[in-house]
Amino acid sequence: MLKAIDMHTHINHGSAHDTQVNEVYTADFDELMKINRGTGIEMMFCSTFASVLSDEEVEQENEYLFNLAGTNDDLYQWVVIDPRNDRTFEQARGMLESEKCVGIKIHPSCHDYSLLDFGDKIFSFASEFGAIVLTHPTDNILTYADKYPEMTLIMAHLGGVEFVDAVEFAKHGNVYTDTSGIASSKNKMIEYAVNRIGSEKILFGTDTYSAAFQRGRIEFALISDEDKSNILRYNSERLFEKTLKNRK
Ligand SMILES: [Zn+2]
Repeated sequence: MLKAIDMHTHINHGSAHDTQVNEVYTADFDELMKINRGTGIEMMFCSTFASVLSDEEVEQENEYLFNLAGTNDDLYQWVVIDPRNDRTFEQARGMLESEKCVGIKIHPSCHDYSLLDFGDKIFSFASEFGAIVLTHPTDNILTYADKYPEMTLIMAHLGGVEFVDAVEFAKHGNVYTDTSGIASSKNKMIEYAVNRIGSEKILFGTDTYSAAFQRGRIEFALISDEDKSNILRYNSERLFEKTLKNRK
């Protein structure tokens, strides 16, 4: 089985802003790693749930994940920026240089701001580092992708025609999307996307939904084996090459 890369997920770790867990759902790091082993996922790229669901403790959450990634070979970090908190930019400045940080994560809807107000601040910073930015889907993506060609933008949760449009119409080819979340469960979503834009800009992620379900969506999609392998692993290998080249 091809070793997959889950480039979009989260963990809880006992914060007040964790997601709600119960008998039938977990976001515990050790349990997710166990699930990964069962589903052939070699590594995961992560931010804590608390850092994206709330804007109260973003710095502490970044620090927590930075340290955890430092001691777990198969865990990589997305550093979360809140554009109203300049200290998170300073933090990202340092973390983006580290061996385990894959890029910047933003969550305009949960952090409750508009990209129209803060897009230039975020993306000019990302440009300076040639960084990859993972964002919850939001409007005006192309405005910024076209204005800042040095950065790469990943629109999470492939779930409709507009995601495919964004990838296709980006003037500089710097927009990607990921399959994490349940929107990709629409029964022609992956097939439609690959037919229109090919598989090279589509990345595999789980967002903590069942990895078996998420992987199965790709494994049993009506696309070629080469496209499946691109999505499950090789596209992330290529896109995150700068970080992954340090991998032992
Ligand atoms: Zn997410």
